Amino acid sequence: MIEKHITIKEVILNNNCPECYSTTGLQLTFKQKFIETSFYKSITKETTQDIECKTCNTKIYPVRWTKDMERGFDYHQKSFESKKASIKLKKKAWLLLIIILIILAIGITLTVFPNL
Ligand SMILES: [Zn+2]
Repeated sequence: MIEKHITIKEVILNNNCPECYSTTGLQLTFKQKFIETSFYKSITKETTQDIECKTCNTKIYPVRWTKDMERGFDYHQKSFESKKASIKLKKKAWLLLIIILIILAIGITLTVFPNL
């Protein structure tokens, strides 16, 4: 099973980086978790948010967020729309389903009409 966090939205925050004080480097990234197995692909409801400073290449953890950053984050989170959770079956899964259905159909037919 493969788990991936795919970037849905990236925004630049106009706040000071708490590490290097740059005002141009803070980037807020919204990601959503995807799961892929050999039978299906699924978009989960799980989302993650990260703030990273592109100037000093530091990930800013929520404990280091300033009030201004929190405000910016809240603002963008309200307008953030995650992708709808869904599951897509792969060809392999459909084939397996069809084979199971055929076997079931044969089984039912033989039970209902044992003299065939
Ligand atoms: Zn920085």
